[in-house]
Amino acid sequence: MARSNFFAPLCIRRFFGAKKAYPLSIFFTFFCFSLFFSACSEDSDPERVVYPLDKELYAMFPNDPALGDSVEAHLSTGVMMIVHPGGLYTLSFGVDSAFEAPKMQLFRFYEHRDGDGYGMSKMETLKPEVSGGRYVFNFVCEENEKSIWGLTLVQDDDYYRGKTPDVKFEGSGKYSNHLSLNLIPVGLIDPIDGVDGMDNFAKMLLQAFRKAYTSFVIDTIYVNYASKHPILGSKYPSDVHWHAGATSEDMTLAELGGWPVKGVNEALDIVLVHRINELNVLGYAALFASNLRGGEGSTVIVGSHALTSTGERSLTAEEIVKVAVHETGHFFGLRHTTSTWADIEGYQDLSILEDGFEDTPSCPELLRSGLYKKGETSGVRDYSLPGRAYKMIDRTAYGIAFNEDDCPDASFVMFPVSTEQSMREFSKQQLKVLKQNLQLIPH
Ligand SMILES: [Zn+2]
Repeated sequence: MARSNFFAPLCIRRFFGAKKAYPLSIFFTFFCFSLFFSACSEDSDPERVVYPLDKELYAMFPNDPALGDSVEAHLSTGVMMIVHPGGLYTLSFGVDSAFEAPKMQLFRFYEHRDGDGYGMSKMETLKPEVSGGRYVFNFVCEENEKSIWGLTLVQDDDYYRGKTPDVKFEGSGKYSNHLSLNLIPVGLIDPIDGVDGMDNFAKMLLQAFRKAYTSFVIDTIYVNYASKHPILGSKYPSDVHWHAGATSEDMTLAELGGWPVKGVNEALDIVLVHRINELNVLGYAALFASNLRGGEGSTVIVGSHALTSTGERSLTAEEIVKVAVHETGHFFGLRHTTSTWADIEGYQDLSILEDGFEDTPSCPELLRSGLYKKGETSGVRDYSLPGRAYKMIDRTAYGIAFNEDDCPDASFVMFPVSTEQSMREFSKQQLKVLKQNLQLIPH
């Protein structure tokens, strides 16, 4: 009992953020009662609406090759997904020949107007095509903005009981593969070691993004100081060191996303603060934050300094750039090449040990290393973002000998720990997914 009570809010929280978790749990409790009553009274309805159960709200991200066995186990009774306007989506899984083909019921979540929890409405019921031994469901997102949908698999007015092996969730969008960057320095930024001035730092950032994100066309980089924000400028004085999570409660400074100037408003907002107020954390972004138009999940945060147990240390320009390139990978839906313990805790899924790509290696030894155990316990878990919050850990902080040559994935951008390697890269498959996901996101 204690276990199920513990897990339900966690799974919900993982997707919706801490503040919204409780009202959503309440909603589902209420919902179970209403389902019971409606089942007694609605025999004239030819199709029963089979809503998602409360404890199975695992999230799927499009084009993610590591959905995990929790999604597979809960596909019939309900999973969630983030969808974007005009996106074409395909959900597929292996046929279980012991059962008839299931139908899929699609739902959309909406926030109550008073901000008090969520509601859910049934949209449509889909039949699958069968192709190559798989059930294939195709659907289009006709929303005007990024939305959260849920689905259940249904047979004979109840949850489908067949197996759902090898789930794949793919999405393709209509938006361009062009992207601009918007660097937002917040508060007082001390001179950065290795570069002369903010404009040159921005040039360095642009160059690194163009080198790493070869499946995007990176048009340009803007530099906009938070102190000069047309509306919020006075909140962000230029003579104060900004500690994200302390000077401002919002670790992500989401209100600065979607800079209100035409042309800049759909750039990727990279917020540079003095430091993030969490021990040894260099950068921060949500997994598949996927929002280029402002509001929650619209920023990537990096610090010019890292908070340490004895004070703080300054990062070089190259280090900050590497962190920004890495966190942006999460923003567009990439996981770490090797999961950390903190990742696994966040997913609530022990099967996701690596990113699922065939062309990126992983480093199982890393999971067992002292570095990770330290990294896990020293960090504060945070669920204030719609996806899993991803923090880059500073390996120099723990005083543990860590030989990156032992990890074949240390040369990849999405390796979870900062390394000394100056050039880190994406694999071909990662680059393909980055492009697919960028094209799903309105901009
Ligand atoms: Zn990371």
